[in-house]
Amino acid sequence: MASGPPVGSTGLIHHPYVPPHGFAAPQPAVHKASTVIFPDVAAMRSTEWKDKTGYTYGLHGTPTTFTLEERLATLEGGLQCLLVPSGLSAIATTCMSLLRTGDEVLVPDNAYGPAKTLVQGELMAWGITHRYYDPMDPQDLADKIGPATRLVWLEAAGSVTLEFPDLPAMVRICRERNVITALDNTWGAGLAFAPFDLVPGTGEAPLAVDLTVHALTKYPNGGGDVLMGSIVTRDPQLHLRLKLTHMRLGLSVGANDAEAVLRGLPSIVLRYQAHDATARALATWAQSQPAFVQVLHPALPDSPGHAHWRELCHGGPGSAAGLFAVIIDPRFGQDRVDAFCDALQLFKLGYSWGGPMSLVVPYELAQMRTQWPAYLRRGTVVRFSAGLEALADLQADIEQALQRSLR
Ligand SMILES: *Cc1c(COP(=O)(O)O)cnc(C)c1O
Repeated sequence: MASGPPVGSTGLIHHPYVPPHGFAAPQPAVHKASTVIFPDVAAMRSTEWKDKTGYTYGLHGTPTTFTLEERLATLEGGLQCLLVPSGLSAIATTCMSLLRTGDEVLVPDNAYGPAKTLVQGELMAWGITHRYYDPMDPQDLADKIGPATRLVWLEAAGSVTLEFPDLPAMVRICRERNVITALDNTWGAGLAFAPFDLVPGTGEAPLAVDLTVHALTKYPNGGGDVLMGSIVTRDPQLHLRLKLTHMRLGLSVGANDAEAVLRGLPSIVLRYQAHDATARALATWAQSQPAFVQVLHPALPDSPGHAHWRELCHGGPGSAAGLFAVIIDPRFGQDRVDAFCDALQLFKLGYSWGGPMSLVVPYELAQMRTQWPAYLRRGTVVRFSAGLEALADLQADIEQALQRSLR
């Protein structure tokens, strides 16, 4: 073989590129790989993929995804993290890893809708049963935990109606009964409260959930342009169980997407505070609008679970996400509510949240819950997500839509 660098198509593949040493830019690089080259067979046989001591294959992690995993775990006070293609896939992966035929999973009645569809669909088909519990009644949760219960999902605040549960009480109940707790912490984003330190331990370990899932799609990315999820733990054994399922399912995230989330993370605290401030101001103002019979936001004193929110999140700036919901007076029919949503100009009609643009979704709550909760007035629920636009413009937008459709 000729000496010197290979030429032709081989030269394009075996190029003499060496990553730059001493290039100390603060932003992490985008490392893309399926194959990772081993120096010899011994290294190929001995390199471990289950922890972060080496790189074996792109599916099992790259410097870019390892960096993101470490930062996400740190943000929440966790120790290990797995990245998955979406928030929903974080929920699905957790269920598939921790549940077997004959097991039961408990889900709050106000859980993220597609999570309920998952337990009713695939999990039921695999012989895994579920029960819905009242998120505002820890005793109901305690009563529903049975001998087959292996996993309890928690959400604070709840999806769409934003009631804030007594999280420490529910975690204690599950602890006492040796049931794993999984918190969907998308709303809290690791900022509003510390899920692995719910109640500081006096001498003993702090009260903590066993694992959290996030839709990184929302605030961690912050641009509305990436779908990704995470599963964070503090227990290496639990992490390994989840990681084995993650590996066997072949889940992986794109390097460019991971880098986009890494780019969003440094500003998450500022963005979260801004979304919070705007949503709180809008929710407070919305209470004075006669068309809204109830406004749901944990910081409002008469919103369900306000006291639990105040105790866990302390109420200062950045202790709530940018979401609030209104219940529209039932004297306005569905067509008038639809017209109200259509009349909004800055609040766009669309699912998800966490990006710079404000969004709105009307919901048919009666179809989403096993029962209409006693703490909710009757009417049509409309959920708002405050983006990063000017508060005065957003308020004027809701005002003009009210004038046109709900007067
Ligand atoms: C959006 C969301 C999810 C799902 O996230 P995707 O990345 O869109 O799949 C899960 N849980 C909650 C609470 C959410 O708001």
